[in-house]
Amino acid sequence: MPRIVRCPICRTEVSWEESPHRPFCSERCRLIDLGAWSEGRYRVPGEKVEPEPEREDSDDEEGSL
Ligand SMILES: [Zn+2]
Repeated sequence: MPRIVRCPICRTEVSWEESPHRPFCSERCRLIDLGAWSEGRYRVPGEKVEPEPEREDSDDEEGSL
């Protein structure tokens, strides 16, 4: 009995046993998902990048040198 899953990207039904790119329907959708994931990787735990929270608006007005 073939298991049918839906491609998370385009919602095409694919056979789990037969698709080499499961759960995606094709390599294209797999790559799309990879790209989407890496764009969202600002939230990777353990890799916090905070945009200078202690800075208010000091715009280089020191004039030293
Ligand atoms: Zn797809």
